[in-house]
Amino acid sequence: MPDDAPNSWESRADAYSLYGFTDLPTIRDRGAVVLTHGEGPYIFDVHGRKYLDANSGLWNMVAGFDHAGLREAAQAQYDRFPGYHAFFGRMADVTVALSERLVEVSPFSRGRVFYTNSGSEANDTLVKMLWFLARAEGQPERRKILTRVNGYHGVTVVAASMTGKPYNGLFGLPLEGFLHLTCPHYWREGAGGESEAEFVARLARELEEVIAREGADTIAAFVAEPVMGAGGAIPPPEDYFRTIAPILKRHGIPLVADEVICGFGRTGEVWGSETYGFLPDAIIASKAMTAGYFPMGAVILGPELSDRLQAASEAVEEFPHGFTGSGHPVGSAIALKAIDVILNGGLLENVRRLTPRFEAGLADLAQHANIGEARSKGLMGALEAVADKATKTPFAPDLSVSERIANTCTDHGLICRPLGQSIVLCPPFIMSDAQMDEMFEKLGAALSAVFAEVA
Ligand SMILES: *Cc1c(COP(=O)(O)O)cnc(C)c1O
Repeated sequence: MPDDAPNSWESRADAYSLYGFTDLPTIRDRGAVVLTHGEGPYIFDVHGRKYLDANSGLWNMVAGFDHAGLREAAQAQYDRFPGYHAFFGRMADVTVALSERLVEVSPFSRGRVFYTNSGSEANDTLVKMLWFLARAEGQPERRKILTRVNGYHGVTVVAASMTGKPYNGLFGLPLEGFLHLTCPHYWREGAGGESEAEFVARLARELEEVIAREGADTIAAFVAEPVMGAGGAIPPPEDYFRTIAPILKRHGIPLVADEVICGFGRTGEVWGSETYGFLPDAIIASKAMTAGYFPMGAVILGPELSDRLQAASEAVEEFPHGFTGSGHPVGSAIALKAIDVILNGGLLENVRRLTPRFEAGLADLAQHANIGEARSKGLMGALEAVADKATKTPFAPDLSVSERIANTCTDHGLICRPLGQSIVLCPPFIMSDAQMDEMFEKLGAALSAVFAEVA
């Protein structure tokens, strides 16, 4: 029951705040969870209740909620130079250092970085770069962007158009020229009797057909998350990217990896594109780049796009784009520290060490009669609930099964995320074995309780 006294935190949240991506009837019944602080992977609410956050905040708080090194890096930079922009050829020294570091840890031999405040803005920036480039190079018709159904690329108008989710129809989106290909989810999208290899071949044929139909020279890029995140933690078949990357290359269409979730270690390598063995032409980064301690995003261009953008910009004097907060010195200092903590402070190693335990925990819960699929890559994964395992029939949407599972978890001190009929898990990189066991124990109990009610 929500605390509905007029001066309660819950009532005040409700009276004055608009919630994004929030099931409003649930909030009416249960009240918002109003938080005060965190410790390691745990968060605490205004009533002193403690929750293990199995989603790293929103995929991003990979170093936990009280990392001393990140707080000190922020404080030191606030003391030294608390804010500046990156326009007119001026840029903070730490931002210069961060770009150098990002290119160094990128899969590119060289390249350049453009900063934003979010992943959505980074995707919008990328598309503006490509449109700008196309016009500068005498190909103004090269504007279409290919993404996939269930791909998530953000919420600004272009990023939402890239996102392959039905709710964007509520805004009259996508914009014209944003095309969504089949989601590479074999378990759900594979046709009866089709092998995984045949499924990949079918998606490759679809890509060829779309390119032939639309015309290769009207397509500005193919943008994809290595593992789909907000679509439901969906890893593609192992050969998917190795199959489609050469097709794009043959047609001269840039392949952009939206690494906003996968980047900086989530899949067990620094980049998800590394995990799947393909080299993109550009990378979109955000989320774990600052371990969630500052809002910051980046477009990292590989050598070819970087050279072409530089030349096109010089021809008209400038690339007329940027945000007041682009390359913020405090964000830059935090990102430098976060990259160091992840790569040299044992976090990436811990992702690799924990992955088998994570896979085993998911596989164990997948024994349940109402779990149709357990899927994961590195430390991102999902359990998909089904009414009937053999036929993969989902539960009736009005049962709100995944919401009920997540709410039951919340009641028992575990935060996990319902997405469609799935429960998504993406634990912070700092988790201990005991904390991971706690996560699966609480989730297992919630699954049993909810399935006993609905199945
Ligand atoms: C979160 C996300 C974005 C959008 O980032 P925001 O900072 O929320 O704008 C873009 N792409 C992917 C893959 C994401 O997960």
